[in-house]
Amino acid sequence: MKTERCKLTGKQPPDWALLLVAQVCADHGRRVPSLQWWTRDGKYSSGHYWPARKQIHVTAGTDPQDQQGVLLHELAHHLTVPRKVNGSRSRRRWHNKRFYTKAFELYAQWGDEEFVAYEAKREAHYMKRSTSVSGYSQ
Ligand SMILES: [Zn+2]
Repeated sequence: MKTERCKLTGKQPPDWALLLVAQVCADHGRRVPSLQWWTRDGKYSSGHYWPARKQIHVTAGTDPQDQQGVLLHELAHHLTVPRKVNGSRSRRRWHNKRFYTKAFELYAQWGDEEFVAYEAKREAHYMKRSTSVSGYSQ
């Protein structure tokens, strides 16, 4: 691709990421989403999942553990797409108990204790928000 987009560079996803996506989807009997892989300077990664396109987008930082955590987070979305409510999917419905149960199941399956602890820390601020907004509970 010739277009320059800030510091982002479109890349072929690494083999481990493609294998992880394939294996997780096989485990759950789900269709494999397409994976877009970009890189950025800095340690941390970010990600996004488009349910309509069945597409995961990862902007990978330099830390491999963080990359894997983001990819598993987005895969958990793929496996737990919330139903539309009033035609939209709110962020609160995305990060609900069902999502976190699946996400931490994946973290525990694909990482060691240290990795799970790392992810628990990373997810903490989302979890707090998702459970406190409008008294959401499940
Ligand atoms: Zn998310």
